[in-house]
Amino acid sequence: MLVVMQSDATADQIAAVVGAIRAMGLTAHPMAGPTRTAIGITGNVVAVDPRTLEILPGVRELIRVTRPYKLASREMHPDDTIVRTPQTEIGAGGFTVIAGPCSVENETMLLRTAEYLVARGVKLLRGGAFKPRTSPYAFQGLGRKGLEILAKARRETGIGIVTEVLDTETAGAVEEVADVLQVGTRNMQNYSLLRRVGRAAKPVLLKRGMSATLEEWLMAAEYVLSEGNRQVVLCERGVRTFADHTRNTLDLSVIPPVKQQCHLPVVVDPSHGTGKAAYVMPMALAALAAGADGLMVEVHPEPAQAISDGAQSLDFGSFDRLMERLRRLGEALEREVG
Ligand code: PEP
Ligand code: MN
Repeated sequence: MLVVMQSDATADQIAAVVGAIRAMGLTAHPMAGPTRTAIGITGNVVAVDPRTLEILPGVRELIRVTRPYKLASREMHPDDTIVRTPQTEIGAGGFTVIAGPCSVENETMLLRTAEYLVARGVKLLRGGAFKPRTSPYAFQGLGRKGLEILAKARRETGIGIVTEVLDTETAGAVEEVADVLQVGTRNMQNYSLLRRVGRAAKPVLLKRGMSATLEEWLMAAEYVLSEGNRQVVLCERGVRTFADHTRNTLDLSVIPPVKQQCHLPVVVDPSHGTGKAAYVMPMALAALAAGADGLMVEVHPEPAQAISDGAQSLDFGSFDRLMERLRRLGEALEREVG
């Protein structure tokens, strides 16, 4: 349920409505908008008699939110959310490119990649220090050493860091270094982890579960939002289907319904979505055309030598061509790519 306050409602009137909601055993989420404040209500709202709130001074109207996700829904939050890091914004109308290797492999390759990306105007570097691998025998990432390397890249180049949080035990260490906390596809329904990043002071990039419906994905975002962290970016990275010509089936058709039903920015990962470097460019261009707010793409100085995901990683030359074509398409669509 959403309480919409009158545009001239006073701070005391807003506080009184919040108090009344809490007295009913429910949670109030005040949201100050450009013209008026709205107060989202979560909890067992079915039991609430709307008239008890409607009559309070300063209240304009009560709206029932029909979707199962509340704080993530456009019904409750009509304006687009802009996610901010110290380096850039995601969701402000531009097209934000997040790029970097699958894993942090060593200091030399990471710094080289960071310097190259900064020179191309990229503001956010991706790279996993803690890696979720299908096999327990595969490279699991450099762990804390990888975080130190990411911190050094940030210090020396100014680039922002997007890196995965694999579990609640290491979340604190990742939070110290990261500008954006990535939750991977395998953890999309790890509710204790979602609640943990929901209490973090850093934005969260929430990848879609590999077989998650749109509703399940938005319910996962709701876990993060309900803990108080409103800075969430969704990331479409492909889903499991019968098709085996690509690693996953990149579901670009999810972008318009995400935009319609949810106010959070959404980016597309064509690297994990296709699994093949040659398919990354067309799908990246399609993501921009489909209305995504940005891209997450794997880039490696020497993809053939990569420890993980080399086959889907772009080399620097291919990334240059991708940025050039994105910029040209961006001009036609009046979207700034960067
Ligand atoms: C990644 O971004 O490196 C990654 C592991 O992605 P996903 O969780 O989408 O598989
Ligand atoms: Mn990867």
